[in-house]
Amino acid sequence: MRWSGEPRDGCQLCSAERMTDWHFEDEACWVADCVVCATPMIVWRTHGLPDEDVERDLLARLEKVAEARYGREGFWIDPERRRIPDHWHAHARPAGGFFDPASPLYGASWRPRSSR
Ligand SMILES: [Zn+2]
Ligand SMILES: [Zn+2]
Repeated sequence: MRWSGEPRDGCQLCSAERMTDWHFEDEACWVADCVVCATPMIVWRTHGLPDEDVERDLLARLEKVAEARYGREGFWIDPERRRIPDHWHAHARPAGGFFDPASPLYGASWRPRSSR
């Protein structure tokens, strides 16, 4: 399958609605708190999947935000795209956890689920 890079109708990440705090943005991406997890989440502005070099660059931006929030060793990068697999994004999650303490789901079992 090929991705055109055009915004998709109905794609939550393409619409880039500011439902939570935004921590960073530039022409390539933005970093905001995930609506579900309340952890910092980076979203590529292009609908699709970047190549490795671009991905590394993007993750470096996310790590900066995550470091400011959780400390240098206080987070892990979760590259799995559970809800929106075809639009690149990644979460930074607190070490040993899945949700930020600000999330209503914090403390819930965080075994990754494949659907949702
Ligand atoms: Zn999209
Ligand atoms: Zn999330």
